[in-house]
Amino acid sequence: MVQIFADLSDMQEDILQIGGSDYNHIRNVLRMRPGEELAVRSRKAGEDSGEYRFEIVSFTEDRVVCRLLSVEQAKAELPVRVLLFQGLPKADKMDFIVQKAVEMGACEIIPVEMRRSIVKLAGSKRQKRVDRWQSIAEAAAKQSRRAVLPQVHDIVSMEEAVRYAAQAADAVFVPYERMAGEEETGTRALLDALQPGQTAAVFVGPEGGFEESEVAALIQSGGHTVSLGRRILRTETAALAFLAFLIYRFEL
Ligand code: SAH
Repeated sequence: MVQIFADLSDMQEDILQIGGSDYNHIRNVLRMRPGEELAVRSRKAGEDSGEYRFEIVSFTEDRVVCRLLSVEQAKAELPVRVLLFQGLPKADKMDFIVQKAVEMGACEIIPVEMRRSIVKLAGSKRQKRVDRWQSIAEAAAKQSRRAVLPQVHDIVSMEEAVRYAAQAADAVFVPYERMAGEEETGTRALLDALQPGQTAAVFVGPEGGFEESEVAALIQSGGHTVSLGRRILRTETAALAFLAFLIYRFEL
């Protein structure tokens, strides 16, 4: 079943009209025909609308006209909301991180300019990059059949990130390689303490890692350093390892 994200508040009675790039995709790439079914979910940030099943009724010049068949609450989401605070890595590594983190269940991705981030993006380039990451997130969410459309935030400073995490999350995890080999049991206890319905923030350093002052600021605001195992992982692997822990904790 093809799944897309759309604004469900645009529905009139049981009819939804879909335009934009999804129109082209459905009509010209997938070559779908009237009578075929589509799964649609809300594109509103953070909203789990359940799965709306539609039947294609017809095509206009720029719209797919669909009729609602049924609504199902699905269970594709991790029971905890995960906010990934990713230290800005080099070049296009962030593309990979966004795609994989969305596949593995992250709900919000916040790119953070950390002290050791090498890339400094200015002005319009910044916005373009964020837009690109958001569209990667949407494609990954469709492919992995996420129930919620994950959101990529604007690039923020470390100070803003620490503040947002403290306010938005029930627990703040700081994978820190100095913990490797020492604190695995502490990490397990922290993961076990997480409860369904809670929000977890995870901070990952860029290639060069965190500066000590950054870790200190996170601990100061209630964060916990954790281990991701005994090897040093690359920045693009760290968030995925953490998400895999949560999948194990809650889904297996
Ligand atoms: N500069 C460091 C590595 C940084 S790895 C060095 O070369 O020694 C990038 C980020 O991944 C780190 O900031 C940390 O958040 C995370 N990370 C990598 N391996 C880890 C591990 N074994 N335990 C916890 N965090 C880890």
